[in-house]
Amino acid sequence: MGFPDLAQRVADVRARIDAARARGGHGQRVTIVAVTKSHGSDAAKAAYDVGLHDVGENKVQEALKKMGEVDVPVRWHLIGHLQRNKVKSLEQFVLLHSLDSSRLADSVCAYGLARGRAVDALIEVNFSGGKTKYGFSPSELLPEAERLTSLAGIRIRGVMTMASFTASESELHRTFADARDAREALVEAGHPAEELSMGMSNDYEIAVEEGATMVRLGTTLFGARDK
Ligand SMILES: *Cc1c(COP(=O)(O)O)cnc(C)c1O
Repeated sequence: MGFPDLAQRVADVRARIDAARARGGHGQRVTIVAVTKSHGSDAAKAAYDVGLHDVGENKVQEALKKMGEVDVPVRWHLIGHLQRNKVKSLEQFVLLHSLDSSRLADSVCAYGLARGRAVDALIEVNFSGGKTKYGFSPSELLPEAERLTSLAGIRIRGVMTMASFTASESELHRTFADARDAREALVEAGHPAEELSMGMSNDYEIAVEEGATMVRLGTTLFGARDK
């Protein structure tokens, strides 16, 4: 095991991000969230060692197991669907990227109030239509944003989206630009909403051109997953 060429891969990704930022002209800073799902905890440790201190997992159980095995102060991000009976595990994560339903929002809010500190979360919005299982539709976003202003147990830090794997380049641009507009709408509704989590291994350069502040990268850093 091990990820011997990770430092080189990170350097390449950072160069591509810088170039994409320059093309896009949004002037944002970009955080790489290293997605270690399906890899062992050695991937999270390796990421940390090359300067990627933000690590993303899409499943709570898998993440908690790795947290017990990693002895460096990684900032863990939850990027996948969260079941409402697991909201207490949010204590272990710096950010929930996947606030994907009103019911989950209510549970997360109750948990944030109970612990006495609001939970930081991104609203997941599905701009590409149909296929994906989770996330608010664009038409649901504004009503939900209004409703969330009264939920003191959650702090809405921005928008997360996933583009369709089959989208053309122009469709990707449109999806990510829509997410940027949605983030602005959240700000207008009174949320802090400074983050735009969008872009994966196959589309992160376009996402950064359109203003992504967080890219979630797995394959391009750690190689293909076998499950
Ligand atoms: C797996 C995953 C990623 C990373 O995907 P890659 O294509 O391997 O970079 C990003 N975001 C979410 C929500 C994921 O589940």
